[in-house]
Amino acid sequence: MPEGRIEAALRDATDTERAVVGPGALGVVAEVFGQAFGQRPAAVVADATTWRVAGERVQRALAAAGRATETPYRFPPDSFVQATYGNVERLTRALAGHEAVPVAVGSGSLNDLVKRAASEVGRPYLSVATAASMDGYTAFGAAITRGGYKQTMSCPAPRALVADLDVLAGAPADMTASGYGDLLGKVTAGADWLVADALGVEPVDARIWELVQGPLREAIGRPGDLAAGDPGALERLVEGLVMSGLAMQAHASSRPASGAEHQFSHLWEMEGLGHDRRPPLSHGFKVGVGSLAVAALYERLLDRDLAALDVAALRRAWPAREEAEAAVRAAHTTPGLAEAAVAETTAKWVDADALGRRLTLLAGRWPALRDRLRSQLVPADRLRELLAAAGCPTRPSELGLTAAAFRATYARARMIRRRYTVLDLAAETGLLGELVDELFAPGAIWADQTPGSPP
Ligand SMILES: [Zn+2]
Repeated sequence: MPEGRIEAALRDATDTERAVVGPGALGVVAEVFGQAFGQRPAAVVADATTWRVAGERVQRALAAAGRATETPYRFPPDSFVQATYGNVERLTRALAGHEAVPVAVGSGSLNDLVKRAASEVGRPYLSVATAASMDGYTAFGAAITRGGYKQTMSCPAPRALVADLDVLAGAPADMTASGYGDLLGKVTAGADWLVADALGVEPVDARIWELVQGPLREAIGRPGDLAAGDPGALERLVEGLVMSGLAMQAHASSRPASGAEHQFSHLWEMEGLGHDRRPPLSHGFKVGVGSLAVAALYERLLDRDLAALDVAALRRAWPAREEAEAAVRAAHTTPGLAEAAVAETTAKWVDADALGRRLTLLAGRWPALRDRLRSQLVPADRLRELLAAAGCPTRPSELGLTAAAFRATYARARMIRRRYTVLDLAAETGLLGELVDELFAPGAIWADQTPGSPP
């Protein structure tokens, strides 16, 4: 049963002590609160929708159990609660007026707001999930828009999580599909970790790897059933998302659950793609298209013989640090983001000598690495079928991206995170430009995304 896997993963998690996932789980919310926080009072935080679907019941259950509670904090109705720092400040001010433990009743943005605000007032919190929309419930860190762009702010994961599958089953279909897109991203995220491991950049921790990759194939295997409302398929999805969050806690890094597909998504998020939509374009939808983009790139790269590279020529052509920085500044003009991208790129920059050593190492390890990547990855055509069956977008235009903006993402996304991914491997082997050209050529996966073609 999934509780078994999650229970085992909780032993390695640093912040989260308990996660109850199952039908009717709201029935034990007061008990879970008591186990996690003893006699402390509770303060439910919700928006209009999450109050209706679960918040009111949580409030009643806590009160019925004799728990002292503060007046619930409810974000204003008729608006989508945005994960902005302004909202963090509003919530922090409200929390500062008492000493209660916040209970976040909601999904991505609301959970992130409470996660950060709770951290700012130095308190733990309880998360009550209302949609299977992303893996952030059990992850540390919050994606908050501040100073004009979206950034990841540090804060611990919740001390406990309650995910009632009956509540999650009633969430809008797009939210479940979004969770599927986020989970599907673990396929390419895993591949990127294998690359980083093989090149001596970041070793794979086999136990953490298993937390994410172990349940993954089963969890992504039935997207049609998931879209049709099958409870078993939903349970597998939620389990996969919760396990991913716990793996990130245990590893003290998002590496186990996030690779180049998330760099695509993070870049689009930092630049506000789809934030003006109602509801805003979801994280998982962006990760899904990012996964497809990255899987397609991997397919082309795996056809190359990286054991036969001209290392001396690649060393000669390698840009100096100042050139690399200039390229980042030319590619990123959003305030704040440009500086952040320079810092991230600089953190992983290597000089020509180090590049030469890395490429020599790659040559020796390529045959084995290629085999491992082929068994880890899912063909891009298959990924597209899975995404479509789950109800996720599969085309950049569905996200509101122009063909040119999408194509540019292959080079730009690499610059915004220090994490080593296939984008770095492709760039360091001198192949990124030509591989991307191939992806947009007639007959290839993005042929209809060539700039100038109809959306
Ligand atoms: Zn994600």
